[in-house]
Amino acid sequence: MPTRPRPDWSLPTRLIHEGERSQPPAGRPTATPIYTAATYVYESAEALDTAFASGEDYVYARYGNPTVAALERVMAAAEQGIGAVAFGSGMAALHAALLAAGTPRGGTHPQVRGILAARDLYGATTNLLNDFFAAQGMPVAYCDMCDLAAVDAAIAELHPDVLLVEQISNPLLKVADIAELARRAKAAGARLVVDNTMATPIVQQPLALGADVVVHSATKYLGGHADVIGGVVVARAALVRDTLRRYSKLLGSLLGPFEAQLILRGVKTLALRVRQQCANAAAVAAWLDEQPDVAVYYPGLAAHPQHQLAARTFDGCFGAMVSFELRNADRAAAFAFVDRLELILPATSLGDIYTLITLPLISSHRDLTPEQRAERGIRDSMVRLSVGIEDVRDILADLQQALAGNRLP
Ligand SMILES: *Cc1c(COP(=O)(O)O)cnc(C)c1O
Repeated sequence: MPTRPRPDWSLPTRLIHEGERSQPPAGRPTATPIYTAATYVYESAEALDTAFASGEDYVYARYGNPTVAALERVMAAAEQGIGAVAFGSGMAALHAALLAAGTPRGGTHPQVRGILAARDLYGATTNLLNDFFAAQGMPVAYCDMCDLAAVDAAIAELHPDVLLVEQISNPLLKVADIAELARRAKAAGARLVVDNTMATPIVQQPLALGADVVVHSATKYLGGHADVIGGVVVARAALVRDTLRRYSKLLGSLLGPFEAQLILRGVKTLALRVRQQCANAAAVAAWLDEQPDVAVYYPGLAAHPQHQLAARTFDGCFGAMVSFELRNADRAAAFAFVDRLELILPATSLGDIYTLITLPLISSHRDLTPEQRAERGIRDSMVRLSVGIEDVRDILADLQQALAGNRLP
């Protein structure tokens, strides 16, 4: 049994052991500490054996970490799931979520037989489906998830066991009818995976509408400050949660404690930030809609194709992403518009406290051919704003001066 450091030990030995493994303080820390320990010691071999057997106690950090567990608990609550598992990035989370969603009921090992995914997806997600899943021989098909007849036809043809959709799509900000998709997935014996990164649980909680799995890139709204990479998967059923945990242990694609603490800290202000961001975005969308040379995409505007659905199923706000096209502008004019901005940052990513702008043409959709972009309705002059928490008057003034420059000869 490990003893307390003894005074007769030599200096090098005492430097290693003195001060370590003390009792936790009587008072509980208000905020969860960053547990950096890779391993844990127990009073006896018997106690260690019991800890290994329980699967609940901390033994080795790849199996579980208290800082990461705190983040997993708050995210399970935020998304109304039975449990959550954190991963080292949004992509690692999606990979594990798609595998785990293919776990047959009554079985323990994922056997994905087919994935039906939305056509509008984050670029790297499309690459994951094509270059990893399809490349391994797994059938993958795409359809417009807003067209329920197309979804029915694709399900009948593919017999997928996993459906994947992003709530609030990129960059056209389409809104998915989660309840209808969940009903169809269930009838087909499939599980519905929702990437809720763009919406956040402040705007909608897909598990409550019947989805089976929710995925987040925690790099975006959950972290919120452009300083951390991470991902989280929330499950509705114990079977999926347990598979996720097993895969995290097996593949080692887990989140580290420092990152977990940053995200945990971010989540505390998620509601405040996202509500402010949604209010700012609504004001930006309304102002842009008044401008003569601009076509706006925002679920909060009455002209948006899924405005009614969003009004009915979102929690009183419409998200903080606003996309728009500069009418009569080509690639060069769009570049010039972005270069004139003084406050809004031309950075990739989204969900930060800073207002960010991207051109899908050169970022998320650069690997598509011009024809494929046109087919998806993405013009060269389309820009996507991730609205931040700055004073909205400053955001509007920046857009105004940059747009005014566009009209000059
Ligand atoms: C960023 C993003 C991802 C990938 O997340 P990473 O943290 O960059 O790995 C997946 N889905 C959506 C919708 C995203 O915006």
